[in-house]
Amino acid sequence: RRYRKTIIAGNWKMNKTATETRIYADQMKTLLPKAKWCEIVLCVSFVNIPTAAKSFKDTRLSVGAQNLHYAPEGAYTGEVSASMLKDAGTKYVIVGHSERRAQFGETDLMVNKKARAAVDAGLYPIICVGETEEQRELGLTAELVSLQVRAALAGISADKLRRVVIAYEPVWAIGTGNTATSAQAGEICNEIRATIRHLYGARIARSVTILYGGSMNPENAYELLSQPDIDGGLVGNASLSASDFTAIINAAN
Ligand code: PEP
Repeated sequence: RRYRKTIIAGNWKMNKTATETRIYADQMKTLLPKAKWCEIVLCVSFVNIPTAAKSFKDTRLSVGAQNLHYAPEGAYTGEVSASMLKDAGTKYVIVGHSERRAQFGETDLMVNKKARAAVDAGLYPIICVGETEEQRELGLTAELVSLQVRAALAGISADKLRRVVIAYEPVWAIGTGNTATSAQAGEICNEIRATIRHLYGARIARSVTILYGGSMNPENAYELLSQPDIDGGLVGNASLSASDFTAIINAAN
């Protein structure tokens, strides 16, 4: 892992008000390890970005968003641009989460445009890829995930790739309590790194952080994070509890 950053990122999804965000931040300040073994990120709702940025200001925790629009500005009612996120104190942004792909019609092309808008604005996109249960049963996982990665990275130059994080999130494992085995997850993360090696060469592939996401919790985190190509986690449910999230951060040590 010495070639790349370890990242534990929480995805709050559509949870927590500003008040709840402040309470969580106070809890985190007492729990958060001083350790420097990983970068810690919390992806909060758009409206909570200013509160989170303020509450976590003096901590090691970075604030992330869960989505963005790819246009720099304009007539896109209800949308938020990369520069708005950056200005509000965001460092990371989740792109192409399976909930957005499945419920809000995000295509590989949109995911690519969003990833490009993010890196161009100086944000760090966490690009999500992963197969459905049906696709896994059909034996399509490796091929599909590789295609999603290629599509998402199209047009991103090698120097901008330094800001890109990939999250492998099997759809059947998200919010279901079904975790991929560490071997299954490790194998696909290795496949993702091979795809990046193909596109950008070995040196860059070695430096890209690849996360696993899907029902990661304090009990299973250590084993998942022990896989050589899993460099951290994208954590949904378990990130809603400051103590569970801290336990996962400690498991990354
Ligand atoms: C996620 O939404 O990215 C996720 C991994 O959720 P959960 O941990 O709840 O499965």
